[in-house]
Amino acid sequence: MKKCAFAFILTLCLLLAACGKPVDTTAHTRTVFAMDTVMNLTVYGKDGEAAIDAAEQELYRLDAQLARGVEDSAVYKLNDLGAVNDATVAYLLQESLAINDATDGAFDPTIAPVLELWGFGSGAGEHRVPTEAELAAALAGVGMDNIHMEGAQVALEDGEVDLGGIAKGWAGQRAKDLIAANGAKSAVLDLGGDVALLGRKPDDSMWRVAVKDPADGNAFLGVLTAADTFVMTSGVYERYFEENGVRYHHIIDPKTGYPAESGLVSATVICADGVWADALATAVCVMGADKALDLRESLSETMPFELILVTEDGRVLYTCDSFAPGTGSDYTYEQIG
Ligand code: AMP
Ligand code: MG
Repeated sequence: MKKCAFAFILTLCLLLAACGKPVDTTAHTRTVFAMDTVMNLTVYGKDGEAAIDAAEQELYRLDAQLARGVEDSAVYKLNDLGAVNDATVAYLLQESLAINDATDGAFDPTIAPVLELWGFGSGAGEHRVPTEAELAAALAGVGMDNIHMEGAQVALEDGEVDLGGIAKGWAGQRAKDLIAANGAKSAVLDLGGDVALLGRKPDDSMWRVAVKDPADGNAFLGVLTAADTFVMTSGVYERYFEENGVRYHHIIDPKTGYPAESGLVSATVICADGVWADALATAVCVMGADKALDLRESLSETMPFELILVTEDGRVLYTCDSFAPGTGSDYTYEQIG
């Protein structure tokens, strides 16, 4: 009986102590410019400041490591010298290999020489429509079989690589992991419209992410309710030029060498893995809605993900109940998959 009373009093004391000390939910914010993107980081709680410092430094470091156009970056060296010893580049290319395989070649970082021809390369190349002969020559050097890896050692047999379709996802993943390693449990990292979510909101509710309208930077397609995941969007509207009234954008179909014509304007992927979220968003823009749904099915066990797609003919196709379509837009919304 005595023991019981003691345990009761102890529990009561612990409860009172917990109640007396309110949980610190202070928001720590930081604006970072990296990867050509204005990023807004918000980390909640007492460990937020140290966590945000670590994330900021990591974002700058990754920018310098992965930017193809920056001399001395690991990717620059790989392209320039044909080999580099870099564990991150090796990891990202291993993941690229798996994603290339899963997407039947739609995602392919060896597309770099073709991007260069269109002026979507590393430097301030001029935008123009390449000739068929130029495209054929550049495409001959495209393919993941040009990459050879052993541990951190990467060798490139031919062509060049561009990690532009995957780098931001990795940056988001690293920043999120570092923030968690610093003790924070709740953070939202807005990497220029792509979002990394750590845990839930400080009040333990889910995050609500506005999914942007590809046709209007100030409008939203709807609101996604999510936690501890990545929400990455690729769109053919992000970078493009016009020639003779035709619009040419920056997501290239590796099978043709031309900007993808899949019927999609944008693809948002929600996935727990930042690298896959980013790469799949790019790949889905190449693959189109039907193949993207097949891919979602085939990866449902190993790399589950959800999709919000916008088609050229004004439809929004989405696979998850956690997406609430916006009202008042001209889009038609269809839940699929
Ligand atoms: P994102 O904004 O993530 O869709 O990435 C677009 C960038 O990925 C482009 O600017 C290119 O650097 C690169 N890219 C374009 N097409 C492909 C492709 N088919 N596979 C891999 N990367 C690509
Ligand atoms: Mg991407």
